[in-house]
Amino acid sequence: MNVLVINAGSSSLKYQLISTEEEKVLGVGICERVGGNGSFHKYYDIDEVEHIDEVPIADHNAAMALAIRALTSGPARAVDSLDDIDAVGHRVVQGGHHYASSVLIDSEVMDTIDTCSELAPLHNPPALMGIHACVEHMPDKPMVAVFDTSFFQTLAPEAYMYALPYELYENQHVRRYGMHGTSHRYVSQRAMKHLDQSAKDLKIITCHLGNGCSMAAVVGGKAVDTSMGLTPLDGLMMGTRCGAIDPAIVPFIMEHNNLDVHEINDLMNKKSGLLGISGVSNDMRTVCEAAAQGNERAQLALDMYAHSIKRYIGQYMAVMGGVDAVVFTGGIGENSVQVRAMILDGLEGLGMHLDEERNKQRGAERIISTESSPTTLLVIPTDEEHAIALDTVDIVSAL
Ligand code: ADP
Repeated sequence: MNVLVINAGSSSLKYQLISTEEEKVLGVGICERVGGNGSFHKYYDIDEVEHIDEVPIADHNAAMALAIRALTSGPARAVDSLDDIDAVGHRVVQGGHHYASSVLIDSEVMDTIDTCSELAPLHNPPALMGIHACVEHMPDKPMVAVFDTSFFQTLAPEAYMYALPYELYENQHVRRYGMHGTSHRYVSQRAMKHLDQSAKDLKIITCHLGNGCSMAAVVGGKAVDTSMGLTPLDGLMMGTRCGAIDPAIVPFIMEHNNLDVHEINDLMNKKSGLLGISGVSNDMRTVCEAAAQGNERAQLALDMYAHSIKRYIGQYMAVMGGVDAVVFTGGIGENSVQVRAMILDGLEGLGMHLDEERNKQRGAERIISTESSPTTLLVIPTDEEHAIALDTVDIVSAL
C-alpha cells in the first residue's frame, strides 16, 4: 500500500509517501512558514537531491496542493497520479481519553480531535487543518489518525492522576496523557526483537531525546508510565522546556517578575531547558561544543540534562520492579555518544554496562551494552512516519 503520512504543524506541513510493501520512502517534503512571509516548499527527489521552491503558501490547503504536485510531477515525481496513493495517515498529538489506538477518520473523529484542542491548542488545530486539506484534495481516500497520546492510555490511574482536587479531573480532564507515544511504541517494539525473553514479561525504558524529550516505562509492550503530562512541558529537561519543576515556582516567578499567563508559559516552554541554563543554545551539539571549550554554564546544562534522565531511569526501574532494556532514540539519543555515556555513567550497579566501543559506532539499530550486561542497552532510530503508515495499512486493509 502507498500511504501518504502527514504531520501538520501550526506553520508547517511535513509529508512522506511510503510504500509499506517495499518498506521504502517514495517521496518526502515539507512546506514551511505556511501562512507567513518567506514561505517555501522543500522536497527531495529519488537521489535525495534537495529542491527548494520559494513560493507563497497561504494555508495548509495550498501546502497540500504543492505536496501532491511534487509527488505526482516534476523532478521528485514518486507516482503517476493520485490514484497511486491508497490512504493517508495523519499524526495527531492529542486524542485525550478517547482513543487508545489509531482510528479511521470520519466526521465524528474530526469533532473529537477538535474537542481535544482544548488540551493541545498549539497542535490539534493544525492537525485538523491538514485533515481538512486532504479531504479537499482527496475526498475519497481513507484517512487514519494516529495519536501521540494513545500508547499511554494503558497507564493505571495511579500513574496518570495528579494529586489535585478530583473535580479538575472529572470536569476538565486534567490528567497525564503523555506525548511521543508513536515513537515510544515503535522503538519498544523494535527493542523486543533484540531480546530473548518472552515479550509479555519484558520491562523496557524508552528515552526519546530530541528537541522535545520524554521517557516511558513499558511492560510487555504496554506503557505503564511516562514523563510528559497534560502537556509536553512535564518531565525531562529539554531544548527550551524546563520539564518538571516545583509547581510553586510558577506563582513565585509570576509575582516577582510581574508576568501574565502567556509570559510564564513562554518562559517555561521557550526560554528554559538547555537554552535557559547554558545561555548558548537549545541545540545539544552546540551545548556540547561550548562545554568542551570550557563554558561552565553549558557544562552545567549537560550535567543537569544527564541527571534528569538518570532520575527517571531509577523511577521507572522502581515502578516496573526492574528493567531488561533501555532504549535511546531521537536526535540526541541516536547520535550523541557523549550524552549516552554521561547518562549511563555510574549505573553499573543497576546492571547497565555500556560497551564504550559499541557506543562510539555509528549506524542503525544496535546494542551498545557489553555481552555480559544484565540490562541490554540499545540505540534504535525512531521512525514515527513508518509507524503511522503501518497503523494506516492495518486499519484501511480491514475495511
Ligand atoms: P525533533 O524533536 O525536533 O524531531 P530531533 O529528534 O531531530 O528533534 O533532535 C534534535 C536534537 O538532536 C538537537 O538538540 C541536536 O543538537 C541533537 N543532535 C543531533 N545530532 C547530534 C549529535 N551528533 N550529537 C549531539 N546532539 C545531536
